[in-house]
Amino acid sequence: MKNTMLAAVVEQFGGPLVIKEIPLPSPGAGQILVKTEACGVCHTDLHAAHGDWPVKPSLPFVPGHEGIGVVVAMGAGVSEVKMGDRVGVPWLYSACGHCEHCLAAWETVCAQAEFGGYTKNGGFAEYILADPRYVAHIPAGLEAAAAAPIICAGVTSYKGIKECQVQAGDWLAVSGIGGLGHLAVQYGKAMGLRVCAVDIDDGKLAHAQRLGADAVVNARVGDPIARLREVTDGGAHGVLITAPSLEAFHQGVAMTRKRGTCVLVGLPPGEFPTPLFDVVANCITIRGSFVGTRKDMAEALAFAAAGKVRADFELQPLSAINNVFERLQRGDVPSRVVLDFS
Ligand code: NAD
Ligand code: ZN
Ligand code: ZN
Repeated sequence: MKNTMLAAVVEQFGGPLVIKEIPLPSPGAGQILVKTEACGVCHTDLHAAHGDWPVKPSLPFVPGHEGIGVVVAMGAGVSEVKMGDRVGVPWLYSACGHCEHCLAAWETVCAQAEFGGYTKNGGFAEYILADPRYVAHIPAGLEAAAAAPIICAGVTSYKGIKECQVQAGDWLAVSGIGGLGHLAVQYGKAMGLRVCAVDIDDGKLAHAQRLGADAVVNARVGDPIARLREVTDGGAHGVLITAPSLEAFHQGVAMTRKRGTCVLVGLPPGEFPTPLFDVVANCITIRGSFVGTRKDMAEALAFAAAGKVRADFELQPLSAINNVFERLQRGDVPSRVVLDFS
């Protein structure tokens, strides 16, 4: 093994990623080294590289939290994985394991949590250092590139739908049919829901229909709120907002049925106005949802391994990352780009 690796590095917020050789990390006690096979590109990576959020990563850093690869080295005391295992290094890179949230199996909100491709270097590199207690275990038969989008876009969508607290036959509205949303449509159908897809791009809506959506609404044509309420006969029981756009949040609350739940998952910087009277009088729940726990991850991967959910992806080399980011920013990526290291 050489002692450097190729990586795409964020050296300044908003600047292009720099593709260069950086030192190959070596696993210490309780750590593993994963040789990357594939890594999905999430819109979160774009927010990270732009420094969009209140708590910013420290520069320089390597983004990527949909990295899938094989364990090629281990430090002392690792028992959770074996050499050669295929694992994923997700956004939830590690947590403390003993705070009130970890004890409640809500490790995603642990105050000591580290985040892959954010507070720890991620998968836009030939190798990833990982914590074996928190990696995703990739089921046999699921190839690396197909697994990559599941470990962030998939688990986040799946958990977000569960947080909608809907039942089979209920209406789920999914706002934003990109990386997360195209999987949310499929999870929703696999969970027995009726799904209405909402986006501003007719191509994405046509794709949602091919994936099984029962109805589609273009969020920028006519009166989309009235249209959705008509299609769902009074609003969706659950609304999952994945769109990285504040206007979608305002709309999503208004698309929620009386006593329904609007789950916020997209993370555009900023705030959105909430119509207090409507939320109160209609007994609407507005709830944030952040990736998923290790249990959610195993469940989300099981849907993919069973063929009930399939990520649509386009392979690109690491060297194309700046072009991929520009396309993602413009809304020009049909579903997910996966960086191919094979
Ligand atoms: P993406 O760019 O692949 O998809 C976004 C989609 O939203 C596109 O199809 C776009 O056309 C659509 N869109 C844009 N404006 C819209 C509007 N006004 N109404 C409806 N649709 C609109 O992005 P992605 O990778 O799916 O990520 C989406 C968001 O989710 C990002 O903000 C990302 O940071 C966030 N995210 C959150 C979590 C979490 O744990 N909460 C996890 C992963 C990603
Ligand atoms: Zn992500
Ligand atoms: Zn904790």
